Amino acid sequence: MNSTSGKEKDTIENQLWFDPSLCFIGNQWLPAKSGKLLDVYDPSTGEQISKISRGDQADIDSAISQAKFALSNEWGNSTAVERGRILYRIGQLVLENTDRLAFLEASDVGKPLKQAKADVSALARYMEFYAGAVDKVHGNTIPFLDGYTVYTLREAHGVTGHIIPWNYPMQIIGRSVGAALAMGNATVLKPAEEACLTALAFADLARQAGLPAGALNVVPGLGTEAGAALARHRGVRHVSFTGSVNVGKQIQTAAAQNVVPVTLELGGKSPQIVFEDADIDAAIPYLVNAGIQNAGQTCSASSRILVQQGVYKEVVHKMAERYRQLRVGPALQDRDLGPLISRRQKSIVEDYLEKGRDLPIASQGSIDADAPNRGHYVVPVLFSDVPPDHVLAQQEIFGPVQVVIPFVDEGEALQIANGTDYGLVASIWTRDGARQMRMAKKIRSGQVFINNYGAGGGVELPFGGTGLSGHGREKGFEALYGFSQLKTVAALHG
Ligand code: ADP
Repeated sequence: MNSTSGKEKDTIENQLWFDPSLCFIGNQWLPAKSGKLLDVYDPSTGEQISKISRGDQADIDSAISQAKFALSNEWGNSTAVERGRILYRIGQLVLENTDRLAFLEASDVGKPLKQAKADVSALARYMEFYAGAVDKVHGNTIPFLDGYTVYTLREAHGVTGHIIPWNYPMQIIGRSVGAALAMGNATVLKPAEEACLTALAFADLARQAGLPAGALNVVPGLGTEAGAALARHRGVRHVSFTGSVNVGKQIQTAAAQNVVPVTLELGGKSPQIVFEDADIDAAIPYLVNAGIQNAGQTCSASSRILVQQGVYKEVVHKMAERYRQLRVGPALQDRDLGPLISRRQKSIVEDYLEKGRDLPIASQGSIDADAPNRGHYVVPVLFSDVPPDHVLAQQEIFGPVQVVIPFVDEGEALQIANGTDYGLVASIWTRDGARQMRMAKKIRSGQVFINNYGAGGGVELPFGGTGLSGHGREKGFEALYGFSQLKTVAALHG
């Protein structure tokens, strides 16, 4: 392998040590059975940079056979300690390949290099966390009738399916595939057709780290083909999906036909709530960054900023100042924001901007003058004085657009915060401890942060939503419970 520093002159060919036009099944690189391919485009330039396979039902069938093979062989008989050691080695290989993985992600997804590097580091952290956690997942003994001994065992589901989006491939592989492998499941991963390169790279690193054949299989392809085939497959015993609400409903419906559990993480309209007694200067970077990170293409993006009347003008003014400094440019130039993933995503965001034409624009950023014309760039926009029921304050945009909404008191803040169909992340900015506790309890959300947002994404923190944001939890120990099932053993011995 050649080692590079991820500089601009690097090319995809230099960075790829595997053939991305193949599927990874049973630790082997295989062409899709149909022989069909899909083009890979760089969102920063709009240029084609590679090809991936267009896997379908036949390839998913092979992947599931290989996963079953793994379960009835070495992988199925492995101990928690053995799996932990393999995961740890995968994490180390991921770290050793930081520059290369970050370059692939930046080129494939349009993510600024430093954000891509942060994703690599998060992927390694997931491996380390699950490596260290998996031998601490204990069952219980249950006091019961005289003459019985009762205990519980945590066991793998079997074959697990993982259908992931394009916005954070490495992080989502870490939190979902990492936890599933830790618990001894054999996994089949269908990455998003827009972003397969790091998923394939990860699979090869896992192979190098000693993961037995069939424990991880990667089938690139379209959602309606490979994705749908995986979600409905009778060999799959658990489906984990991160993506849009509409597809999430289809996944749940498909999995229901086989009566298997699903974990759905479907995005949000996450609020940050700023009270008059907050440390405003500490809050401002979080208020803005949580909205524009990854060009707003983040499930847990904070797209609604609720501000109490007395500090409303100050907060809008300070956020606006920051927005004016935001620069958008090619991922490898490492600006504040890269392009959006695709032309389609760009037109979705532009449609929303059009729907907001009646709203005051507090500020916006700028696109580099020499950014390639065919890149999918949009200017980040901050809207102020937005009515809470406006479409921009209700629907997930998945682009760098934030709305600021004024409120009078705690009751109104809560009503607005809970006034969408989503509930993924929320944050409260106040120095009042009692209010922190009240609000944290009453906000409908899978995570609540107090005087911060996201806590740096800690892999230890259970994550998932309520309402249209989905159900089930990934990250932390909760993921290990989710990717396993409980067996109760009751022995009558007199
Ligand atoms: P987005 O709209 O942000 O691209 P999607 O929900 O469409 O998000 O995609 C997330 C993941 O779901 C991708 O891997 C995609 O290929 C997959 N997918 C899309 N449609 C289906 C489907 N009908 N069945 C299974 N997977 C799908």
